[in-house]
Amino acid sequence: MRGRRVFKLLKGAGATEPKTGAKKVRQRSEIDDRYKWRLDHMYESDDQWRLDQTKVKEMISVIPSFQGKLAESGETLFNCLDHRDQTSILFYKLYVYAHLRLDENNRASHYQAMSDEIAALATRFGEAGSFITPEITAISDDLLSKMKEDFPRLTLYDHHLDEMRRLRDHILSPNEEKLLALAGNVTRGPSQIFRMIDDADIKYGDITDENGEKVTLTKQRYFDFLESKDRRIRKEAMETFSGAYNTYLNTLGATLSTSIYKDLYVSRARKYSTCLEASLDADNIPQATYRNLVDTVDAHLGVLHLYAALRKRILAVDELHPYDLYVPLVPDAKMKIAYDEAKKLIGEGLQPLGKEYVENLLKAVESGWIDVYENEGKGSGAYSWSTYAAHPYVLMNYNDTLDNMFTLSHELGHAMHSHYSKIGQPYIYSGHSIFTAEVASTTNEELLMHFMLERAKDKDQRAYLLSYYLQQIVGTFFTQVLFSQFEDQVHREVEEGKPLSSEVFRQIYRKIYQKFWGPELVLDEYSDINCLRIPHFYRSFYVYQYATSYSAATYIAEQLLAGNRGQLERYLGFLKAGESKYPIEVLADAGVDMTKPDAIEATAKLFGRLVGQLEQLLAI
Ligand SMILES: [Zn+2]
Repeated sequence: MRGRRVFKLLKGAGATEPKTGAKKVRQRSEIDDRYKWRLDHMYESDDQWRLDQTKVKEMISVIPSFQGKLAESGETLFNCLDHRDQTSILFYKLYVYAHLRLDENNRASHYQAMSDEIAALATRFGEAGSFITPEITAISDDLLSKMKEDFPRLTLYDHHLDEMRRLRDHILSPNEEKLLALAGNVTRGPSQIFRMIDDADIKYGDITDENGEKVTLTKQRYFDFLESKDRRIRKEAMETFSGAYNTYLNTLGATLSTSIYKDLYVSRARKYSTCLEASLDADNIPQATYRNLVDTVDAHLGVLHLYAALRKRILAVDELHPYDLYVPLVPDAKMKIAYDEAKKLIGEGLQPLGKEYVENLLKAVESGWIDVYENEGKGSGAYSWSTYAAHPYVLMNYNDTLDNMFTLSHELGHAMHSHYSKIGQPYIYSGHSIFTAEVASTTNEELLMHFMLERAKDKDQRAYLLSYYLQQIVGTFFTQVLFSQFEDQVHREVEEGKPLSSEVFRQIYRKIYQKFWGPELVLDEYSDINCLRIPHFYRSFYVYQYATSYSAATYIAEQLLAGNRGQLERYLGFLKAGESKYPIEVLADAGVDMTKPDAIEATAKLFGRLVGQLEQLLAI
């Protein structure tokens, strides 16, 4: 069973934590049905869900009957994969339905029970099909070719089979695999220990807020305080927050080191030359892609230094410190955008994607894809979730802000990507790899931003949009590359046999941090403690994909806006390609070669232009 077929994409790391001081929230029944998604398009009643649940159990029980027979004939292999896929389609329909219902109201214990039941079934499904990959990888190339000749329908699975078999050199003997699997609870240890500290044990302490009152710091409040116009508060928030991690300094250092030693252990056990190679190989991403990202950004850090200097001037501070990097540069233009207005603007802003795309999107919006408003007990944040057996669904908590509108265009980007991939591909290739998953959503945001900047009513709105855009590029692009360089370097340290400690982590991080932000940024003593509190560092070589996706989208949006011939067709082809090829190939077909500097350079240059525009607008 492959979890990748379901896409639940959350926007923004902090999106799931509710803001403090929320107003009274409506009951779901008080909201007009026009603004609710239509889950009855999946199941008209829960009884029907039950019928399918029984059916899927029977289908799962058939899977083991193929065991030991996959090499017998092309037809048997095809039938096994086809049966597994049909089971998977139905399984995810059940799974997604139960979860979407639960997200309508988290207090609906009935749907909680259904979600639990289906989660339990996932384990059974996984176990039932666990023989498939090893049996397929054991088939010789000659035999497989002959099986395809005898049963041509098997060629549907060509790419899928290649994906499984390509990793053959890194699959160990059954006994060795068993030993690795047995070590699972140990290798998961560092990340679990980190989470226990970060989510449960750590106490951030109190700070004094704008009104002179003592407030206990939480993660969400910390990020809110960093945006405070009162510099004293930002500074105190950052010092207090970092101080809390400082209490665990040695523990966090040991935890992160162990996590990196774990990467080394797994990569060596699986016969990879480096941790980076081991990690990237899962999606067949060449290491050159990573190096290209890191090196190209390094060569363009001057634009970030200019931004730091502009920030310093706008904020009128003697020294720019890390606690000055998050406060909005210009006053919030307080652009209120009602949902119906947002739909209209998105429709207009996405015109460069062509008539057909926009018409499909607007039709989708009116066809029960979206759950628009917040209600009592509803899941927070925003996401798009799609399964093969139904149209995509988008959960929003729309509250009339500019940010909400961008989120809506983002999630619709995911939803439309899934929609097109389902039209263009059979089930097995209808998903997206993590490497390509954020491209369509970000392209939508980029196009909409461009449109909003063009039609900005006055200087204040334009300045606000520019500073919003700049902060987005800092967060999604530069910061992620900064993190990527850190990950790269600390893994190299252990590969070269050098020891790691909280001190080593801090020194490495400090150097990269300073290099990125340039001479205007004055680091504080605790500024480098940040490297010990990033949850993503426990999922090595992951965050670079935020930066590559972002630059791919920037590049595509630029080409579309320039009206480059063939770009729209290439892009629609990309949306329809799903996972029918490796991620790098799918993107290359869309006109972006991620092993080359172009897209990364385009993003850095765009950033530089935006800094110049804001500078000019504010005449500062
Ligand atoms: Zn997304």
